[in-house]
Amino acid sequence: MKKIPALVLALLLFTKIFSQSLSDTEKKIIAWVKAHSTDAEKLLEEAVNINSGTFNIAGVKKTGEVFARELQKAGLTTEWVSLPDSLQRAGHLVASKKGNKGKKIFIIGHLDTVFEPDMAAGPFTRINDSTATGQGINDMKGGDVVVVMALQALHSMNLLKDASVTVYFTGDEEESGEPASVSRKDFIERARSCDLALGFETAQGMNTIAIGRRGFSSWKLNVTAKTGHSAGIFGQGAGYGAIYETARLLNRFREELGNEKYLTFNPGIIAGGSEMEYDNKKMRATISGKTNIISPSVVVEGDLRFLTEKQRETAKQRMAAIVSNQNLNGTSAKISFFDGMPSMEPTKGNDALRLWVDKVSRDMGLGPANAGDPGSRGAGDISYLAKYIDCIDGLGASGKGAHAVGETINLKEFPLLIQRAALLIYRLTQSE
Ligand SMILES: [Zn+2]
Repeated sequence: MKKIPALVLALLLFTKIFSQSLSDTEKKIIAWVKAHSTDAEKLLEEAVNINSGTFNIAGVKKTGEVFARELQKAGLTTEWVSLPDSLQRAGHLVASKKGNKGKKIFIIGHLDTVFEPDMAAGPFTRINDSTATGQGINDMKGGDVVVVMALQALHSMNLLKDASVTVYFTGDEEESGEPASVSRKDFIERARSCDLALGFETAQGMNTIAIGRRGFSSWKLNVTAKTGHSAGIFGQGAGYGAIYETARLLNRFREELGNEKYLTFNPGIIAGGSEMEYDNKKMRATISGKTNIISPSVVVEGDLRFLTEKQRETAKQRMAAIVSNQNLNGTSAKISFFDGMPSMEPTKGNDALRLWVDKVSRDMGLGPANAGDPGSRGAGDISYLAKYIDCIDGLGASGKGAHAVGETINLKEFPLLIQRAALLIYRLTQSE
């Protein structure tokens, strides 16, 4: 019997703490989001049901029109950024407004998904009261809807009046148009005039925020060797052939660099034999060989993933040193590197930005928002901005199975993530 009053007291205390940490305005923002949860789900359904595979240019543009319409309702001015035809990409949606109060916020989403029209990816389907599935539902149409609803909530209460907000939904995040210096030029330029970037890619649950993401480069290893009758292999005259040397080099990579934290390198294709045609663009090889011929050439292509630019450069140097050092008799090798997406280094500034989310989460009674493991996320558009402004990512919708048919969204967490985003943006626009 004595325990009951204690529990009641604890609950009262909890309610008091909870209600004290949110202002009346913030409580109203939450109430608005709650009252519009059906609208959020309807918008999600509408967006998911438009196929917008990166190469489906009409579909990406149509998805852009839907979000432009909704962002206009949030009081933003929208425009479409076209790319040169040679890039074969739809372009990007930008929505913005200028003000002179608070942090200048740059918000990132993307309109495209990995699912092209000929792929088996279904429409919006509710599985039960807490889960729905559909093409790109969490990566990242759910995240785009989080952005839209959060801004609409603030606009409905006239809270964006003096705020400076740029929303940038790229149309080719999953397969960005090459070169990135063209497809991401406008994106980077606009972001550089802002104070910080918020990425609304898939949330890893309610309590994790990305303050770092790995970048990737690629590499190509070419090994050539003397050819001849296999009976002579290992001998002074014939040497070891290209295949043995390649095997040795790959193994050296793994032995010397394989245990470094956040560094990975995956040989994705290898081709060797006596006759070979290698198509660079398609990464396709036609090879023939004979067991009694020493192979004269091998090509290997792989990726390289890293957390800092320094880690990337050091790895490149060490791999190049392995390749040029003491090749097996009769062989020679060279390696070349191609830089893809930069990394988003987990900086102090990024972590300070995460603490804003952490505070909002705690004030909402949702618990902490901890820094996630940078090794657990791939690269994303936000990485292009990381060296210019503070960045965090993973603020979008939560779910499972991104990039796979049957991808889901967690509909229980969805409204909470919208509320959290709205409060975060609100507080940032109120700050000095
Ligand atoms: Zn994505």
